[in-house]
Amino acid sequence: MRTCPRCALPLKNVRYDAVELDLCGECGGVWLDGGEGSAVIGPAADPALWQEHGAVATRTPTDTPCPADGAPLESIVLRHGRDEVTVEACPTCQGLWLDAGEGARVQAVVTAAIQESPQLQEPGFWSYLLQAVSGIPIEVWNPVRRRPWLTIGLIVLLTIVWGVEFALHLSGGEARLLELVNGFGYTPERLLEQPWTLVTYGLLHGGWLHLLGNLYFLYVFGDNIEDRLGRGAFLGIFLAAVVIGALAQHAVDLTTPVVGASGAISGLMGAYLVLFPRVKVYVVLLMARLKMRVLWYMGIWVGLQFLIAAEADGDVAWMVHLGGFFAGVLCALVLRRRGLDFFIDKQRR
Ligand SMILES: [Zn+2]
Ligand SMILES: [Zn+2]
Repeated sequence: MRTCPRCALPLKNVRYDAVELDLCGECGGVWLDGGEGSAVIGPAADPALWQEHGAVATRTPTDTPCPADGAPLESIVLRHGRDEVTVEACPTCQGLWLDAGEGARVQAVVTAAIQESPQLQEPGFWSYLLQAVSGIPIEVWNPVRRRPWLTIGLIVLLTIVWGVEFALHLSGGEARLLELVNGFGYTPERLLEQPWTLVTYGLLHGGWLHLLGNLYFLYVFGDNIEDRLGRGAFLGIFLAAVVIGALAQHAVDLTTPVVGASGAISGLMGAYLVLFPRVKVYVVLLMARLKMRVLWYMGIWVGLQFLIAAEADGDVAWMVHLGGFFAGVLCALVLRRRGLDFFIDKQRR
């Protein structure tokens, strides 16, 4: 029988994702056997990475016995700047004890430390060049726990739809393509006649650059949201952003059909901002590569949408972007109450 190192009460066996956790119903502390930390919290809970990237400030032996093998636990202070958190780890079985709420703290401190770590590999020259030309961001460090199959599936789906569009264009020319855009693109004034277009417009793209840009952003921001919130919530955010993005377009233009997953992608960006505000991205500004918090990056992005609006050349459906973005922010504010700490809170009640 495993007992809580704080309360000496028996630990409960509960299932979280694919892992059996040992949880204390009294203090909300949790025991993670070696490797379970990475499966539950992510690579930020991997002690090998703490060491490598200098996140460990001090290690002190304690008298507290390991719940698994009884060896004395080690107290480890993880620190970045003024941010710190103290966890207990077992030097023999590599298990990890987290007090209530420490899961999120470990993730925040370790992510911050690794993003500034001199050991971190910067992306190379070619990606610098690509960034300078295209303006795309690259995440500094925000790995996922497992392969994001839904995000990958969506990328495949959007590519297939684009392939169909391209084939239609080749076989029937401009007229066939126009038919497709009129039938499945979103035109605000035709909402009642063609309600399906509220969703289908998000699958079509106006050009291959438009498609590639969207797929890239989908992969960069989508994988973490799928990982953190799960597939159901991810799909919910995606669809809400598609629909609300379309409805927002009513405010500016009733007659021009819009196509593109940009509304959905903007929604994922909004959700990412809520879930990972302190994660940084590399951006290239005036030929220099710098690390910028996602909060600033997205602030600039939203500002740019308003600038595009002021230009109003009609090529970019900026209102779809803004509608989708705020839909994503709202959804994530509601859905973020998922994750280890909230799960443990529920178990205690
Ligand atoms: Zn306890
Ligand atoms: Zn142990």
